[in-house]
Amino acid sequence: MTSWWSTRSIRVRLTAWYAVVLGLMMMVYAAATFGAVRHEFFEQFDDQLHEDFESAEGFLAPAADGRVTWSGDGRHDPDNDEDRGSDVWLASGEQVYRSGASSSLPPVALASTTAQPRYESITANGQRWRTLTGTTLVGGRAVVLRVSRAEGRLRTQLWEILVVLVLGLPVVVVLAGVGGYALARRALTPIDHLATDARRITADRLHERLSVPNQHDEIGQLAAVINDAFARLESSFEQLRRFTADASHELRTPLAVIRGLGEGALGKTRTPDEYKEVMGSMLEEVDRLTNLVDTLLRLSHGDAGTVRLARSAVDVGELASEAVSSLGILAEERNQRVTVDAAEGVVVAADRLVLREAITNVLDNAIKYSPPASSIRIRVYADGEEAHLTVADEGPGIAAQDRQRIFDRFFRLDEGRSRASGGAGLGLAIAKWAVEVNGGRISVDTGANSGSVFHIVLPIRRSPIAADSEHTTQRMGEHV
Ligand code: ADP
Repeated sequence: MTSWWSTRSIRVRLTAWYAVVLGLMMMVYAAATFGAVRHEFFEQFDDQLHEDFESAEGFLAPAADGRVTWSGDGRHDPDNDEDRGSDVWLASGEQVYRSGASSSLPPVALASTTAQPRYESITANGQRWRTLTGTTLVGGRAVVLRVSRAEGRLRTQLWEILVVLVLGLPVVVVLAGVGGYALARRALTPIDHLATDARRITADRLHERLSVPNQHDEIGQLAAVINDAFARLESSFEQLRRFTADASHELRTPLAVIRGLGEGALGKTRTPDEYKEVMGSMLEEVDRLTNLVDTLLRLSHGDAGTVRLARSAVDVGELASEAVSSLGILAEERNQRVTVDAAEGVVVAADRLVLREAITNVLDNAIKYSPPASSIRIRVYADGEEAHLTVADEGPGIAAQDRQRIFDRFFRLDEGRSRASGGAGLGLAIAKWAVEVNGGRISVDTGANSGSVFHIVLPIRRSPIAADSEHTTQRMGEHV
């Protein structure tokens, strides 16, 4: 279920978060400030009470008759202030003095009065009073003195501060929210532009790119990442388009040949031998078609990752010899000499059939593209943790700029020659996949004299591996 929250835009959510967090922080801050101010006010209030107490002590004097008298000086006299009051009792309970303001306050419980002054808040006649009560000696007589101050004005001031804080809080939060929304809007506008740009880039406009306003900030980096993704997508689309075009072209050629042969044969009456010959040529084209479709299917299985690998310990030297014996007949036809120079015990963990196909394709090319009566040399050796297999021929070699591309699907250097030899430009694409899927790499270089040297490198398997023990499914281009 989609909640209200999740359907809001980022800027609304950001603003809401911002306002809530700011509101909470402001509340804590306001509460702390109010608490501190309140504490400070009451402390000052108590200080003032203490001063009142001291000046009241000064007004008390022993009279000649042994009594205690109050002699306010008018300036500090609480009689002149209705918010302040003073009460004086003798220890006997007799009240010596009471100012007008304190008349509403209850009398002090003399018995519990100690020499230590005591602060107290009292409510009398609906008014809050703060009092300070203590005993003092006047002319050798113990006297209980209580000074008091009405808290009304103090509480009004505190109330005003509280009102300002409480009313100011939502105002501040709303103002900050508006500011936050404007900021979020401003910060996120480039994302809107990115979205608009990205919407414009459809399958047929994949060459277009997002504009990168500032490549150093986060949005610039995001745009760059999206642009990279578009670039990869464009190249995949292009590859797919080329692959489809090439595949249809390759399929059309044998079909056209079959059709031509059929039409030619039907054009006039022919002898059975002539029909046989035409049928033979047609079947050759059908074979070529079947091979092509098989190869395409294998490539697409590789792309889809549905090829199951059966890994086992494979002796690379043995595998090379096997490939030579299966293709030996082709080399013999061309009077070529194929030699294998293999170190013993170069073992890798690989799918035997898949790896053999890679070697066969490379060797097949060496036979196809080298001149008759030339030599092809296969070497197998170990170097550190890697097994190496090289196939060197005395053919035309491959120019530096083509050395990467010959592994692309349908890529042929010499269209006429390789097509005549039956190649569709897929042999090396399959070889590359077969090597990489077994964790290796393949490359091509020029030989010492001329010709080309294909180089397959695979990681050596040191630990023993049980035959067919590992089954993995691999995609094209995915390394083990
Ligand atoms: P094909 O099926 O056409 O042989 P490959 O993928 O096997 O396709 O090879 C791609 C192209 O690379 C070939 O058409 C050929 O032009 C070139 N090539 C491959 N191997 C060799 C080689 N040993 N010497 C020269 N050119 C080669």
